[in-house]
Amino acid sequence: MSPTPSALQLPHGLSAATTVVGVIGDPVAHSLSPLLHNTAFEELGLDWVSVGFRVPAGRAADALIGARALGIRGLSVTMPHKDRVAELVDRRSAEAERLGAVNCIVDEDGAWVGRNTDGAGLVASLRRGDRFDPAGRRCLVVGAGGAARSVVEALAAAGAAEVIVVNRSAERAERAADLAGSVGVVGTADAATRCDLVVNATPVGMDGIDGPGSSGWPIDPALLHGGQVVVDLVYHPATTPWLAAARAQGADTANGLGMLVHQAAFQLAAWTGLDQPVEAMWRALAGHDPSVPTG
Ligand code: NAP
Repeated sequence: MSPTPSALQLPHGLSAATTVVGVIGDPVAHSLSPLLHNTAFEELGLDWVSVGFRVPAGRAADALIGARALGIRGLSVTMPHKDRVAELVDRRSAEAERLGAVNCIVDEDGAWVGRNTDGAGLVASLRRGDRFDPAGRRCLVVGAGGAARSVVEALAAAGAAEVIVVNRSAERAERAADLAGSVGVVGTADAATRCDLVVNATPVGMDGIDGPGSSGWPIDPALLHGGQVVVDLVYHPATTPWLAAARAQGADTANGLGMLVHQAAFQLAAWTGLDQPVEAMWRALAGHDPSVPTG
């Protein structure tokens, strides 16, 4: 993992011996994954580098063939490739199999194994500093897309007593709730008031997408209150109007950066086999955007 004595060091500390990983997606230039990965590599003293590869829709198979040929050690996978890559890998981990979506490819003795660390990332971020453990708790997830599905699956795996899915289209809500097995149920927004955790996994509240209004909230903030943890997976803006409204209601709030950091840490651990410097990764995000809380 360290450079061989003969490896010629290039600018940025890279050499021909540097191990390469990356993120594939489109768009990808905005991705924070290389920042998180490279921060970890520096902290751990590894001669590894992470870069973004813009791979248009429909080109995931070509990208994987190329990555294998180039000896790329691992890939993080983002939109629009998560479902297609689940079909392309040699094997899938249990959660990737259930979700039919992969956010990370790990080289295991030459076989490419697809994993999905998104939901586990959210759960780990909730547990950070003993903030919230889903075990035995009642949880509500708004949305039934890729992010929501990974969160529903992970909350159930973490022992949640109930995982209620609220979504615009009923059929997708049913499929998402099924991922939580016997604790999964489709519900309506008013159930939020009796939940310990409420997660917005829709893009409502993102810059340029909808906005608060008569029907523009993921969940009416009047249903939220103190004693709850309320998470918005959106992190642009860092505080959505909905998250601010939840905080004003007394809830303990968090944006989606925790999920981002911890899903990346799980990917890095799978690639390197090493414990990850999660706190340094949080600090890197704060340096990138001073509005990011590090505590
Ligand atoms: P997705 O697969 O497109 O799913 C979007 C979901 O939101 C669907 O269930 C959709 O409902 C619902 N939705 C969309 N617009 C809506 C509206 N105007 N009103 C009500 N519901 C609406 O997207 P995704 O990949 O799951 O991402 C969802 C959000 O999570 C995005 O904001 C994304 O940025 C964020 N995210 C964050 C992280 C992180 O690390 N923090 C990771 C992944 C995603 P229908 O089923 O009815 O269409």
